[in-house]
Amino acid sequence: MPSPRLAARVGRIDSSGIRRIFDLARSLKDPINLSIGQPDFDVDPVIKQAAIEAITRGRNSYTQTQGIPELREQVIREERALTSRSYAQEQVLITSGVSGGLFLALLALVDDGDEVIIPDPYFVMYKHLVNLFGGKPVYLDTYDTGFGIDPARLEQLITRKTKLLLLNSPGNPTGRIFPKDQLQGIAKVCAKHGITVISDEIYRLFSYGPMTSMAEVYENTLVLVGHSKTFGMTGWRLGYACGPAEIVQAMTKVQQYSFVCAPSVVQYAALACPTVDNSAHLADYKAKRDLMISILKDQFEISSPDGAFYLWAKAPRGLSGDEFVDLAIKNNMLIIPGSVFSERKTHFRICYTVPNEKLKAGAELLCKLATG
Ligand code: PMP
Repeated sequence: MPSPRLAARVGRIDSSGIRRIFDLARSLKDPINLSIGQPDFDVDPVIKQAAIEAITRGRNSYTQTQGIPELREQVIREERALTSRSYAQEQVLITSGVSGGLFLALLALVDDGDEVIIPDPYFVMYKHLVNLFGGKPVYLDTYDTGFGIDPARLEQLITRKTKLLLLNSPGNPTGRIFPKDQLQGIAKVCAKHGITVISDEIYRLFSYGPMTSMAEVYENTLVLVGHSKTFGMTGWRLGYACGPAEIVQAMTKVQQYSFVCAPSVVQYAALACPTVDNSAHLADYKAKRDLMISILKDQFEISSPDGAFYLWAKAPRGLSGDEFVDLAIKNNMLIIPGSVFSERKTHFRICYTVPNEKLKAGAELLCKLATG
């Protein structure tokens, strides 16, 4: 029963699935924990030093709502180098993580009853934020297209109420990167129907092969990028949004009355990010992906991810993802049931950002559980 004290909108969201796993995590003693969706490396000393200096130099006040101009300039340079898109300053907003960007974007764009197309499986936050803001998530099932998007199938879902398509590449939980020709097909359909794309590219620098930004092929794209994963600073809360000025300006207006600005010290610290080389971390995660695939491929229906740091596998022996995760937890291992990320309940997610010994032990335990 919804409490009369609370707003109806909170009754439309539910955090029970993921919370159950985190509660269980607390009750286990030294589990093999393959559930945590974050890198296992610490913030680079150069960035830490920049943060310390920002504090001691007194960069502790509010900043402009849209973020400090130096950081927006840096974003513009990086986007131009990576995607060939040239943004003006008013097309860039520094946000409190990609979560902050998603929150502002959906609040600024979604009206009651608007439909938002979400490829399934999806990052857990998308459907709940759409529901919170009165929109209607419409799921584009990707299980039988190798977790890629078939533009014709996308078009079939479009109605008069369709407002947005929410893309995530490289994807959480699948690790899939949508190839350029697929993005071009999507762009064609979206242009025909006047649909804005929100493209969550938080894992773009964890790509093991070619990665195209949706912004390269479709003008009407709002790109969301974050520092959390790339620089191991999930707790520092930084990211940015860039895209159509009208949308970015509306998000800035909402930020003014909500987050106010992204953390000032972190914005200054992020000016040091371009000096940090992430290639060793990328190579490490690629090796971990290969290790996991080599151990799991005979026992599980699983495909090698193109990026991010997740594996998306089908539960074995006809078990549901939830049943298989319960079994894993009984054996002191934590993984996440697919039902958290999908309208289907067949899969589970592994995050492989843990030391190799733990990873190997986890993979071997998974194989043992798969054989019953
Ligand atoms: N998008 C995706 C796909 C993610 O996996 C995450 C973090 N798990 C986020 C957004 C949120 O990241 P941030 O820390 O930047 O808010």
